[in-house]
Amino acid sequence: MTSTPNPPHAARYPAGGLAFPHRDLIGIGQLERHEILFLLDEAEQWVALNRQATKHENLLSGLTVINAFFENSTRTLLSFEIAGKRLGADVVNMHAAQSSVKKGETLIDTAITLNAMRADAIVIRHGSSGATQLIADKVDCPVLNAGDGQHEHPTQALLDALALRHALRARGAAAEDFTGLTIVICGDILHSRVARSNLLCLQALGASVRLCAPPALMPVGIEAMGAEVFHDFDAALEGADVAMMLRLQTERMSGQFIPSAREYHHLYGLTKERLDRAAKDALVMHPGPMNRGVEIDSEVADMIDRSIITRQVEMGVAIRMAALDVLTRRARGVAGWGEAA
Ligand code: ASP
Repeated sequence: MTSTPNPPHAARYPAGGLAFPHRDLIGIGQLERHEILFLLDEAEQWVALNRQATKHENLLSGLTVINAFFENSTRTLLSFEIAGKRLGADVVNMHAAQSSVKKGETLIDTAITLNAMRADAIVIRHGSSGATQLIADKVDCPVLNAGDGQHEHPTQALLDALALRHALRARGAAAEDFTGLTIVICGDILHSRVARSNLLCLQALGASVRLCAPPALMPVGIEAMGAEVFHDFDAALEGADVAMMLRLQTERMSGQFIPSAREYHHLYGLTKERLDRAAKDALVMHPGPMNRGVEIDSEVADMIDRSIITRQVEMGVAIRMAALDVLTRRARGVAGWGEAA
């Protein structure tokens, strides 16, 4: 299997120029609709590969990918690591707890150090919004944002879109995009980079997005981004096609934002009864990690025909393989993708 300079659906991308002209993947906010579709389409070949017994390609052979994680992560780090390894790259993980960051090194010095090691791609997770861009500005290779503070988590939104597309297609829908779908994102919208990236991505793909949270966990003025805002979860769910549930980001909260987890579950937890307000067969999503019994009941999270939470995890590897492949094409001298650096 080899990657083609332009994908099979080239007709939907602008003629001339690259289907994906960016060096880095920092946020969905910087992408055009056709660039989002391009990454989703590119990921399909990796979904297929990942379902085979032998899951290996040598596209990135000889390249070094550094996963620099300054904040905790389980599935995202693992997913990027598996993605890089399946493409044949040398993957190195840097955990902040073991790094010089704890010894007081500035982020810029860390970036300069990573750059001096001649990485071919750097994947960054950081607790501060904007940290990934700061590093991208200092290094010579592509930088992928694996979540920066409350700002963006672009590969999460892309994998969510791919998982949703697969689920809709499995039900026989064409699902070229999400036009006509109503998607509720409910939870700690204020602190969530997943909510922000998904709002941008889902809207770019034609969906109507409803955001739902207690007033204290809803960013002021978010309506300006085109979402409908709800504080009543039952009302938000009425007739919705998808319910995407988010965790309370307690690690980003200073002070008390909700009376108690129990009260929160009572008003904003997704129960089987609540889900009945949504459209028949509405799908359930969650980026993980889930707090069962708080934002979502086990009974709902584990519904075989409705919950696509494990499919989201599966698609994460494919999306990250697509991103690593596409962003390193120039350095690899892939025909049509510019001079090798
Ligand atoms: N895993 C996602 C993130 O890194 C969602 C979460 O942590 O709640 O933002």
